[in-house]
Amino acid sequence: MKTLSKLLVANRGEIALRVMRTARKMGLSTVAVYSDADATAPHVRFADEAVRLGPAPSAESYLNQAAILRAAKLTGADCLHPGYGFLSENPDFAQAVHDAGLTFIGPKPAAIRAMGLKREAKALVGARGVPLVPGFDGGDQSTATLEKKALELGLPVIFKPSAGGGGKGMKIARSQDELKDAIESGRREAQNAFGDPTLIIEKYLERPRHLEIQLLGDEHGSVVHLFERECSIQRRHQKVVEETPSMALTAESRAKMGAAAVEVAKAIGYTNAGTVEFIMDSDGRFYFSEMNTRLQVEHRVTELVVGVDLVELQIRIARGEHLPFKQEDLKQKGHAVQVRLYAEDPANGFLPSVGPVHDFHVHPVGGLLVDSGVESGGEVSMHYDPMAAKLIAWGEDRHDSASRMVRALQGLSVQGVTTNRGFLARLLRHPDYVAGKLHTGFIDEKMKDALAEPVDAERSMLCAIAATLAQHLTRRAADPFLPGVVTGFRNNRFSDQFADYESGQHVEYRALGDGKFLVNGAPWKVIAWDAPALTLESPEGLRQHVRVVAADGKQFVHSRLGSEVLKEKARFPAPVDAAVKGGFMAPMPGKVVKVLVKDGESVKSGQTLLVLEAMKMEQTTRSPADGVVKKVLVREGDQVTAGQILVVMEE
Ligand code: ADP
Repeated sequence: MKTLSKLLVANRGEIALRVMRTARKMGLSTVAVYSDADATAPHVRFADEAVRLGPAPSAESYLNQAAILRAAKLTGADCLHPGYGFLSENPDFAQAVHDAGLTFIGPKPAAIRAMGLKREAKALVGARGVPLVPGFDGGDQSTATLEKKALELGLPVIFKPSAGGGGKGMKIARSQDELKDAIESGRREAQNAFGDPTLIIEKYLERPRHLEIQLLGDEHGSVVHLFERECSIQRRHQKVVEETPSMALTAESRAKMGAAAVEVAKAIGYTNAGTVEFIMDSDGRFYFSEMNTRLQVEHRVTELVVGVDLVELQIRIARGEHLPFKQEDLKQKGHAVQVRLYAEDPANGFLPSVGPVHDFHVHPVGGLLVDSGVESGGEVSMHYDPMAAKLIAWGEDRHDSASRMVRALQGLSVQGVTTNRGFLARLLRHPDYVAGKLHTGFIDEKMKDALAEPVDAERSMLCAIAATLAQHLTRRAADPFLPGVVTGFRNNRFSDQFADYESGQHVEYRALGDGKFLVNGAPWKVIAWDAPALTLESPEGLRQHVRVVAADGKQFVHSRLGSEVLKEKARFPAPVDAAVKGGFMAPMPGKVVKVLVKDGESVKSGQTLLVLEAMKMEQTTRSPADGVVKKVLVREGDQVTAGQILVVMEE
C-alpha cells in the first residue's frame, strides 16, 4: 500500500474545497493552485499551501499542465486530484502526472482514453451486450453518408460530437431538410470545442429520462455500483437537478442497470470512481449513453443516500486499499436531491451572469449540505463555469428532501449576480416534478411560463421598506455627530422622509426613536440591524429576517418572500435638502455663516435659506418647495449644536 500525504487539487471553486475537506479529514496536507482571478478565492485560503498557475483564462491556468506539475514539484505533493471539468478526463494529463512520480486520484490513463471518444466507447460497450441507442458510429463522415444513415435510422435523430461532453455541439434534426444544417453546424462546433469534427448519430428519443450509475473499482479487480442518480432535469442538455433514488426504477430494473454498469467497468478494467450514463425511453428501456471517468458534480446525493464519502474512497483506492464493502453490503437510505445554483438568468435564455457577489448567506436547514465556491465579497468570474454552488438535501423520502430543498432555496440570499435560485424553488414545487413525471425536456416544456420571478406586490413593498430603513440606519450609524439625536435625518426634524424607487415603490417614513418608524402611515419596528441582517416587525406584529446590502448604487434585498434589487430614483435637490415641511435642524455642530431669509418671507423651491460651516465645509440649507418662512431661530455667527432647530416653515 502506498502512503499518500500531500494532495494537490488541480481545480478551483466548490469542488477544490470539497476535495480538500476530505483530504484534511484523512490527515493529508492540501495544495491549491490558482489563476490570477482566484488569488484570494476560498479554495486558496483553505489550502495549507497554494501556488499560482498563471493568468485568468483556463488555457493559461487550470488547463496549463506544465504549471500544475511545477506546482506539484515545488510543494512536494505526492498525489493529485483533478476534480471535474478542466483536465479531469484528459488521459495525457493523467499519464504526465504518473510520469512525474505522483499518484493520480482517478482511473488509469488507458481507461480514460477508452471512454473518451463516444464512438470507441459505444463499440466497446456494445460488444459486451449492453444496450445502445440505435445509431451510426461508422467511419465515413461525409455529409451524404451521415444524411443517408440518419434517414435509415428514422427521424428525429441527434448528432453528437464524438469527442464531446457537457452537452455541447449536439444537434437534433426532426425533418429531412434540417439534416444538412445539423451536420454542418454540429461538425463546426465539434471542431471548435473539442478539436475533432467526428460526429456520431443516434436516434433521438422523445422525452427520455437520464439515469446513471455510480461505480467504484479497486485495484484488485472488485467493482461495485452505488446505485443510480436521476438527472433528467436539464437545460441545454446540462443537468440542473439530480436525485436518488429515481422514481423510474424498480428494485429489478435498478439491479439490471447496476449490473450493466459494472459490466462496462469490467470491460475496461476500470478502477476508482466513475459513472455510466444511460438514457431511458418512455417504455422503461434503457440504453448506454457514455461513461464519465471521474467524480461527478452530483456525487453528493449518492454519498447522502448510501452513507459514503466518495472522495475518501477515491483516495483509499489510489492508495491500493481494497474496497471496504461488497455489493450486498450497500443499501439506499432515504432520498437526496441536489440543485446546481447557476449564476444565470432563466428569464433571459439562461444567460450567464458574472460579477461581484455582495451576499452569499445560507439559512440553516436540517439535512442540508452546501458546497460553494463563492462567498460574500467574492465574485463569479467570466472565465469559468457559472455554477456558483450546489445545494444538497437529504430526507426520509422524496417529499421530505424536496421540502427541505425548497426551504433552503427560500432562505438562500445570493446578491449581486442573477441566479436561478427562485427558478429552482418554482421547479421543485411544480406538480409534475412533485409527481416525478420527469424527462430531459421538462424545463423547456413545463417551465416556459415560470422562467421569470412572478411579480409580488407584497414582496416588492416589504423589500422597499427594508431597503429604506436599512439605508436610514446606515446613514445614522455613519454620522458621528448625531449619536443622541432622535433618528430623523439631517436638517429635518419634524416631517416625513421618503424614498422613491425606480421599480415604483414609494416609502414615506418618520423615525419615532427606539427603532420605531411610521412607514406609509403604519407602525413598523426595527428589532435588530447588524448589516446586512435586518430584523423587522410589521404593523401586524410579524417579526421577520431580511438581508439588505447596498452596492453599486443599488439595494439588494432578500426577504422571506424573495429577492428584489432596488434603485432609488435620482432626486434633486440632493438628499440633504430633501422635501421638508416644518423645521430644519443643524446636521452637525457648526457656525451659522449666512442667514439669507427673514420671518414671513416667501421662498421658492431650491432657494438657499442659510449656510452653516461645519468641519471646515459649508453646508447649504435649501427650501425643497415653495413656501413661507415662519421663523428664523438663529443669527449669523451663532454656534449651533447638532439637532438644533434653525428655521421653521409654515405648515
Ligand atoms: P455529453 O457527453 O455532452 O454530456 P451525453 O451523451 O451524456 O452528452 O448526453 C447529454 C444529454 O443529452 C442527455 O442527458 C440527454 O438529455 C440528451 N441526449 C443524449 N442522447 C440523446 C438521445 N439519443 N435522445 C434524446 N436525448 C439525448
